[in-house]
Amino acid sequence: MKRFVWIGSAVAVAALAASLWAGAMYDITCETPGCGFKPSSYMGIGGGFVFEQVQGFCKTCNKPVSLTWNRKEDAKKPEPLAEFWDPMTGTVRRLYACPTCGKPFVAITKIEEFRHCPTCGKASLKHTGPTIMYD
Ligand SMILES: [Zn+2]
Ligand SMILES: [Zn+2]
Repeated sequence: MKRFVWIGSAVAVAALAASLWAGAMYDITCETPGCGFKPSSYMGIGGGFVFEQVQGFCKTCNKPVSLTWNRKEDAKKPEPLAEFWDPMTGTVRRLYACPTCGKPFVAITKIEEFRHCPTCGKASLKHTGPTIMYD
């Protein structure tokens, strides 16, 4: 009987697949005229039942970066480089090492947190999505 819970419309199945594997993917563009900032890849937010994900934007690499680990294997969970309380938002932010260059990046937990353009510095980023992605 349990399968009837999972079999809904094609949309529900697609949403389930996304929540299991990819999370929500956002297309990021900067709306400042002449800036032209556009990351080379989508920005993924959130993990799923099996995989947990930390994502952010590496200023050094100039691209969205993410760390993914299996939720059930706690030993593989990446340790943050640092945790700090952000007085601007009143929330605790975490710094992780970029998998490419090793420099710290701030974990982004909601797409709304990624507001300022890394190129022009203005709060002019536009998020398009979420888009469901498959591999
Ligand atoms: Zn980097
Ligand atoms: Zn910009």
